[in-house]
Amino acid sequence: MAQASVIGSGPNGLAAAIVLAQAGLDVEVFEAEAQPGGAARTLPLTLPGYLHDFGSAVHPFAVGSPFFSTLALEQHGLHWIHGPAPVAHPLEDGTAVMLERDLGEAEAAFGEDGKAWRRIVEPFAEKWSSFAAEVLGPVPHIPRHPLLLAQFGFNAWMPATVFSRLYFKSPRTSALFAGLAAHSFLALDRPLTAAVGIIFGVAAHAVGWPVPEGGAQAITDALCGYLEEQGGKIHLSRRITALEELPTGLTLCDVAPRQLVTMAGDRLTASYRRSLSRFRPGPGAFKVDYALSEPIPWKARECSRAITVHVGGTLEEIAESEHAMAHGQHAERPFVLVAQPSLFDATRAPASKHVAWAYCHVPNGSTVDMQERIENQIERFAPGFRDCVLARHVSTPAGLEARDANLIGGDISGGAMSVRQMLFRPSVRQYATSAPNVYLCSSSTPPGGGVHGMCGYHAARLALRRARF
Ligand SMILES: Cc1cc2nc3c(=O)[nH]c(=O)nc-3n(C[C@H](O)[C@H](O)[C@H](O)COP(=O)(O)OP(=O)(O)OC[C@H]3O[C@@H](n4cnc5c(N)ncnc54)[C@H](O)[C@@H]3O)c2cc1C
Repeated sequence: MAQASVIGSGPNGLAAAIVLAQAGLDVEVFEAEAQPGGAARTLPLTLPGYLHDFGSAVHPFAVGSPFFSTLALEQHGLHWIHGPAPVAHPLEDGTAVMLERDLGEAEAAFGEDGKAWRRIVEPFAEKWSSFAAEVLGPVPHIPRHPLLLAQFGFNAWMPATVFSRLYFKSPRTSALFAGLAAHSFLALDRPLTAAVGIIFGVAAHAVGWPVPEGGAQAITDALCGYLEEQGGKIHLSRRITALEELPTGLTLCDVAPRQLVTMAGDRLTASYRRSLSRFRPGPGAFKVDYALSEPIPWKARECSRAITVHVGGTLEEIAESEHAMAHGQHAERPFVLVAQPSLFDATRAPASKHVAWAYCHVPNGSTVDMQERIENQIERFAPGFRDCVLARHVSTPAGLEARDANLIGGDISGGAMSVRQMLFRPSVRQYATSAPNVYLCSSSTPPGGGVHGMCGYHAARLALRRARF
């Protein structure tokens, strides 16, 4: 049987390993940490009985992943939990804009912008599987649904700020859209930020923004279970420092490009090494996990209907915060992403207690302490929040990287999502490298960050097509 090795057991490493095992290869995964999953792990970061997602918490692209959807992961214990609404976005006046899952309800809730919202998202939400297959892969490709992609491209290239001005009359809808687009980790006046806002909005209606019961680890455990059923083996606490440590055969690397350069050394050509060294990491995240005595006391009570809450106020405020981050600064009022999974998943905390997960965007490698600014922002929309905190765990950018070597300088996207790096990720070769039988499969390849496994899926399929055993 042909041999394949996968370095790293993040969602992309596991996806790659599964594709290879399904093809009948003898697959071994080597993971540096003691627990599989990379940035899809759940850890006891605060008090006994409280479970925290170290990285990913909310999973529209895992539940809607074209590859994961083929694996029947529920048979391996994965159970999705949806909040009544995918996203809440509180505003200064004590109300919140809610993104409802049902498109008809969303249209009604957006009032004067309802029709525009429907026109923007409906064509893609109705055809999620075709749409996801097009956008969760390399940008340069021969489309199977060219009309759908052209329709998306018509708006996608725009900066989110321009898009909002063009389509929305109400500052409330613009604020909500800014929160969606800010998942790009880019300044909102950059091209293609509208694309990110639209994709996240479409996903809310098509597949929801659910959490797995028990946390992100449940996705990883289900993938590991599936892989082992296919005969794959996972070696934990095995950090690979050089490719020579691996058995001969195919090698799929769920690592950052700069790690590959170190591991592969002379096996890569000098020009390919140079192109990888030009690949830029994205901004970092500063994260705080909370053990809480009670749910977050949002002024707008409806925020408790959503697992995800975007804390940042108006479009202008969010744009200012993301502009600062993109220009090496730290906003006084950062855009904060909050998840409150224990409202709907009782396994996360002891009875009547809660957890919350919050992070803001900072320049790569930042050493500035953002805890107080994050908490000031939450307090602004949920007065009394600090009184509910029983314990907190801070993950600085360096702290994130210490637990997962791929999170360079706190970059959670596997590299900046600039136009060039979206097109050629991490180089024109994409998954292939200059070394025969060696492939990159991390989120530094297309389509980039997020728990969807599609980087691993595409990389492994390419490796199989090209392999000569
Ligand atoms: C704070 C944070 C919040 C996030 N929020 C979300 C979210 O809500 N929803 C979402 O979809 N995504 C989210 N993400 C992004 C998502 O988690 C990542 O994009 C995804 O995990 C990338 O998967 P990956 O397999 O490419 O890499 P990773 O998950 O980073 O896994 C890489 C693995 O490789 C291992 N490794 C690295 N080097 C070596 C080596 N030399 N030898 C052996 N093993 C090695 C690492 O230990 C790690 O286990 C978040 C990430 C973070 C950090």
